[in-house]
Amino acid sequence: MMLRNNIVLKEPQFTYTVDMDVKKLLDMEPRAWDFIARLEPKLGAVEYMPKEKLASDLVSMLNASNKGYDHELGIRDTYNDSICPQDKKPRVAVIGSGPSGLFASLVLGELGADVTLLERGQPVEQRGRDIGALAVRRILQSESNFCFGEGGAGTWSDGKLVTRIGRNTDGVQAVMQTFVHFGAPPNILVDGKPHLGTDKLVPLLRNFRHHLRELGVTIRFNARVDDLIVEDRQVKGIVVSDSELRPGSGSQKLSFDAVVLAVGHSARDTYNMLQQHNVDMSPKSFAVGLRIEHPQELINSIQYSELAAEVQKGRGRIPVADYKIVKSVGEKNAEELDIAEQSRSCYSFCMCPGGQVVLTSTDPSELCINGMSFSRRASKWANSALVVTVSSHDFKPFRSHGPLAGVEFQREFERRAAVMGGGNFVVPAQRVTDFISNRLSVTTLPPSSYRLGVRPSKLHELFPPYITEALQQSIIMIDREMPGFVAKEALLHGVETRTSSPLQISRYGETYESTSLQGLYPIGEGAGYAGGILSAAVDGMYCGFALAKQLSLFHGDI
Ligand code: FAD
Repeated sequence: MMLRNNIVLKEPQFTYTVDMDVKKLLDMEPRAWDFIARLEPKLGAVEYMPKEKLASDLVSMLNASNKGYDHELGIRDTYNDSICPQDKKPRVAVIGSGPSGLFASLVLGELGADVTLLERGQPVEQRGRDIGALAVRRILQSESNFCFGEGGAGTWSDGKLVTRIGRNTDGVQAVMQTFVHFGAPPNILVDGKPHLGTDKLVPLLRNFRHHLRELGVTIRFNARVDDLIVEDRQVKGIVVSDSELRPGSGSQKLSFDAVVLAVGHSARDTYNMLQQHNVDMSPKSFAVGLRIEHPQELINSIQYSELAAEVQKGRGRIPVADYKIVKSVGEKNAEELDIAEQSRSCYSFCMCPGGQVVLTSTDPSELCINGMSFSRRASKWANSALVVTVSSHDFKPFRSHGPLAGVEFQREFERRAAVMGGGNFVVPAQRVTDFISNRLSVTTLPPSSYRLGVRPSKLHELFPPYITEALQQSIIMIDREMPGFVAKEALLHGVETRTSSPLQISRYGETYESTSLQGLYPIGEGAGYAGGILSAAVDGMYCGFALAKQLSLFHGDI
């Protein structure tokens, strides 16, 4: 979705390539529109942008115009920067540099807004060192970890590029092509289950950052937004902790015409701040559970049977096997039952073949985990979360927290897990065979990929029975489908709580603007509108277009 493209213009006497800068065209230079009108039948050369839309947007804007194009004028000559003077550019703050914030910044930067991207964490280079210190020395940096920092939560991840929003939609295609432009291998455009891996994501993000800076986007790391400046229910600016520019100097107030909120689902302090401003939010369903890990060879042999045996003998190669499972447990008439007995979905989530279990806590008193891998997926373990859906009925004990009830629900189990693990980020663990029999694992636990240690625990006592029983039943059902899944080598780790946002921030469908605060644009996973790298990026991209339209930087349909 790079808006800068080359168009090949072919006329009877001429064949030449024009560097077409769509951003500037959209700044409404009339002669540029005329030029494009004449190019209209040849717009097939436009890449990245959903090209039909770009063409139809431009053509509909040009229909009224019938001025001729002067061949003596190069396209660059038709630009007139004074039409949109630098100091009149609308000022937009984008909070958070995860996929949604990056793509919103990209679109807004390309379309001519004066964008400041604020990220509480560190750039990927320093973030890598902080994550290393966590894995080796147990030092958790509160602002630079598996959830916070450049690239957002998905940077140290498996980088699976799968989505439920439709792989071939214009939005997803535009995001994938942008990834390729920034250095992702082109095979992600054709693979059935594309994935990047952390080692590919890090350089990609570095290229993304350089491009944003070239566009004029100001990027500030180590800059946590602590508050919004609100007047008459309209956001006028932000208050940002200022440790990067002036260490120890406290906070800084900055004014903006619009604020895009792309903070992800772990920014609990930001949720609290929004609650204090009475921003419309409501609890949303998500899922909680445990992460199961098997030797990768075992999953290969379950999924590939004889083929895997041949490979073990050194004959041929097969890709590491994965799995995706959805089960429904307790299928009874929900009206006759109380909440605890209602039917629930139990499914595998974020399966990482050839990966490792990692710590995704942002606070040392809470413990939660997820999975990541490198592009080769070469580790000897296969891990996946097994999670059960929970909804606002389940958050009743935390009702006093209002829209943040789901956050408190998550926190409750993260704290219990930290206590069960005994501290120091040691994870409570249990053999799957013992979990389904409600007994502590007394023999030595099988090895785990989790670097900070595991402790034998009664994970069957961590969650309320309605979650534990749903997990137990579904594990037994999975074993029937994948015989060998319940194995003595299979180890459950606790807990997986941050599968998606526990709340949704209300916004208008077309404008992406908050229903309660003008000038605030909540996007991505943290706002409850995405569940993964691709859907978050697409949400950010479309918000960018919607906001650009409101700021009169873009005049097409979204
Ligand atoms: P995030 O990526 O969470 O980004 C939010 C950003 O905002 C963060 O960088 C944070 O530091 C910043 N921020 C928060 N508060 C503030 C503030 N107050 N001021 C300034 N900055 C702030 N998804 C997949 O599709 N495939 C996978 O393989 C995959 N694996 C994952 C593995 C792990 C370990 C984790 C944790 C997640 C994984 N996910 C995966 C989920 C995916 O990362 C998220 O869905 C996605 O990153 C959400 O994007 P986002 O932009 O909405 O938010």
